[in-house]
Amino acid sequence: MEVCDELRSFEATGVYRLDGTSTGATFLDPVRLLNASYERFRIVPSAYYSRSFGPQHQEGEPEIERPEKRRKRKRNQKPKSRELNPMEQVAEARHQEARPLLLKAHESLIKAKHLLEYISKTIKDNRHTLDAGSGSENNFVELGTSWRAPFYEITLCFQKSHVLGNEEGSFHAQKTSFPLFNSIISVEGIDEAEGEFQNRRYILPRESCFLMTDFKRVRDLIPCSPNQGYNLIVVDPPWENGCVRQKEEYPTLPNRYLLYLPVQELAHPAGALLVLWITNREKLRVFVEKELLPSWGVKNPSVFYWLKVKPDGSLIGDLDLFHHRPYECLLLGYINVNTNGEQGSNFKLLEGSQVIMSVPGAHSRKPPLEKLLSEYIPGPKPSRCIELFARELFPRWTSWGNEPLHFQDTMYFSEK
Ligand code: SAM
Repeated sequence: MEVCDELRSFEATGVYRLDGTSTGATFLDPVRLLNASYERFRIVPSAYYSRSFGPQHQEGEPEIERPEKRRKRKRNQKPKSRELNPMEQVAEARHQEARPLLLKAHESLIKAKHLLEYISKTIKDNRHTLDAGSGSENNFVELGTSWRAPFYEITLCFQKSHVLGNEEGSFHAQKTSFPLFNSIISVEGIDEAEGEFQNRRYILPRESCFLMTDFKRVRDLIPCSPNQGYNLIVVDPPWENGCVRQKEEYPTLPNRYLLYLPVQELAHPAGALLVLWITNREKLRVFVEKELLPSWGVKNPSVFYWLKVKPDGSLIGDLDLFHHRPYECLLLGYINVNTNGEQGSNFKLLEGSQVIMSVPGAHSRKPPLEKLLSEYIPGPKPSRCIELFARELFPRWTSWGNEPLHFQDTMYFSEK
């Protein structure tokens, strides 16, 4: 594809395949990808890319490094003065194995000058202050644990169109209230709905569905009939991890609890692609590969990398920083699919590793993956998709977790 065509396609889709591509490298713009979900609203880029703005990231000003940060960085660098312990050695070997692929992918992004100019321009041009509106955001994690939780209701306002004779008629709003916690809420119809809860408003994409519960009630998600199972299952667990605990971004779960996620029961009988986000901790990787994925029926997973870059294309940190790699891993594998036999069907089997690059949003917010993975999803089309431990909604997806409405607050949107 010509450079201009590729950029035009990126503008429309938010997906840019780099160098044609022996590295399997792709640049994603989550804002463009998410905007495809909305008719009447759009995501505010500076609200999504909030970490690329803020006072320490003023244009032209180098980030001022505080002494305590410098001390911390020293501690985090690969311990040179002592031998690595056996776990660290395995982690370092994994990193060394991934390094050439990551460097090659990053090099192909740096060479795509027209893309980089385009990204930094669009992010810069869309700079505006995040309007948190009146009052503070709702903390669903806390509200869900209160004794009042069963009594909270969300009021959804759906736009209904009147058809007058043969003409497209006017719209009228229809309001309906639903229990907010522990019940499955679906937006039926082709337009987004607006939700009201405790003086905050939420934008719910068309055909989205969510269940806001604690892990203890995750089995409420199991479909009544297997044919309503899912073809893409994305899991982004709140892994135990010093960093998350320190920042108190969200509560974590003991890793072994994940063995009880009903992944098999959620998978469509015609097959499902499972995507699991993991951290770079070696102990976790061993648990996931040896126990968790086998217990979910996933064999021989592929590894993808999410390499995080700044709007100018540079990495968000030193690639070799021992405890703070500028990348995260995703393990992908199939459930109910024979990966050895002849497929002869409507999807491609995953082959090897790929590198996804994007400018990260809020802490732990992952880029949307459906578009990138669509050709690898088995089963009938359109695919049925679910995210476990979600903080946002997508059309035709079910989102489950203790705060799936978090990023649907209107503060992240503007009207088109
Ligand atoms: N995928 C999300 C995104 O891109 O924004 C991030 C998910 S974050 C890693 C993990 C989520 O799991 C957080 O929203 C957290 O509140 C939620 N969580 C933590 N403990 C939970 C529990 N016991 N039950 C349900 N969700 C829980």
